[in-house]
Amino acid sequence: MFIAHVPSGYLLGVLQRPALSRHVLPACMLGATVPDLNLFYFYLVDGRQTHHHQYFSPWPSLWPGLTILAGLWLSLRRDSTSAAMTLAFAPGGMLHMLLDSFVGDIWWLAPLPGQPFALFGVPALHQPWWLNFLLHWTFAAELAICAAALLVYRIRRGHRQTEHRP
Ligand SMILES: [Zn+2]
Repeated sequence: MFIAHVPSGYLLGVLQRPALSRHVLPACMLGATVPDLNLFYFYLVDGRQTHHHQYFSPWPSLWPGLTILAGLWLSLRRDSTSAAMTLAFAPGGMLHMLLDSFVGDIWWLAPLPGQPFALFGVPALHQPWWLNFLLHWTFAAELAICAAALLVYRIRRGHRQTEHRP
């Protein structure tokens, strides 16, 4: 997934917001983005030797585990902003892995050995490589997520402006 991680984190954060603190939205958006920050390592350090989904941040087992720990932390410290933010951050990472499974190879059993999984294959028809993803029909799902996030943002902003009018 290329462009929909931040918007998907926004949508997930909006869904979580009533139950948690006001820090939920940015934490969730950050969590939905963080698994791909390993791309800096991939390009700048590793020299593209290892698929970036094989580093530890895209391990799907990491995110539910962190979510459970954050839930336990918040149950012990109900007033902890850090626990609330972590409980928003971790599902953002899980959402990232689910969305990447659409067309990106995800090693769902990692760190155990296994094969990568992608729901749909993207044939290599164009150069540069990323055009294959942008011109594949699954990119419409990314555009739909972006459009939904923009719509929800505009609706929420409209509500806030209405609330502040005298
Ligand atoms: Zn990713």
